[in-house]
Amino acid sequence: MIYAANLKCNHTKKSYEIYANELSNALGSNIDSVIVFPPFTALTQNKFKFTQGAQNFYPAPNGSFTGEIGSDMLDELDITMVMIGHSERRALGEDEPFLRAKFDYAQSKGWDIIYCIGEDDITHMNGSTKEFLSDQLSNINLNYENLVIAYEPIWAIGTGKSAKAEFISEILDFISTKTTAPLLYGGSVNITNIDEIKAIKSCDGVLVGTASWDAKKFLDIINKG
Ligand code: PEP
Repeated sequence: MIYAANLKCNHTKKSYEIYANELSNALGSNIDSVIVFPPFTALTQNKFKFTQGAQNFYPAPNGSFTGEIGSDMLDELDITMVMIGHSERRALGEDEPFLRAKFDYAQSKGWDIIYCIGEDDITHMNGSTKEFLSDQLSNINLNYENLVIAYEPIWAIGTGKSAKAEFISEILDFISTKTTAPLLYGGSVNITNIDEIKAIKSCDGVLVGTASWDAKKFLDIINKG
C-alpha cells in the first residue's frame, strides 16, 4: 500500500520538522510506501524514512516565473516525486494544456508523478463520472512507468464524507482498464474508513489530506489493519 500525505498549505518549517521526525521515528524498516508532500518552505533534503514530494512545480528549470518553483530548486533537494492535477490547483486555473506541460516536463525528468483526477458534484450526480475521467486521462501518457493515478472525487475532498467503497471500486476498476499504473483513492480518508478502502481490490493506496496533518493520525491510518 502507498500512503501519501498532502499537507497542503499547513505546517511551518518548524512544525514540519516535529511532524516529520515523529512520523519517521515511528515508521518501521519494513514500511509500505509512505510519501509526504510538505509545503515548499518546509521541504529539505530528505533525512526521513518516508519519501518527500513537491505539491507543485513550474515546468522549467528556472526563469522569470514569479512565485514559481523550477526543477533546479527541486534537483538541489533531490526531490524526484511530484503531484500534478490536484483539484485545488485546477481550481486556481491550471488547465489541461498546462497540466500536460507539467506532466511532459516531469516525465522528461524521469520523476515519479502522482497525477490527480476527479469529478465535481454535478458530474457525479448526473452519472457522467467515467466520461469525465476518461477526458482527464486522455491528457497524459498512461504508459509512463513512474506514474501513479490518484482518483479524488472533488465532492469528497475535505468534506469528511468519503465516496462509498462500492463506488470507489467501480471507478478504480474502470481506470485500470486504461492503465497499469498503481491507483490511489483520495477524499476524506480517515481512521474510520481506511479498512474498507484498503480492502478494495484495485486500490493500491490512499492520498490523505486533512487526516494526515497530524503525524499521530496519519500513523494510525498507516498502522491500521
Ligand atoms: C486531498 O486534498 O488530496 C485530500 C484527499 O483531502 P482530504 O483527505 O482532506 O479529503
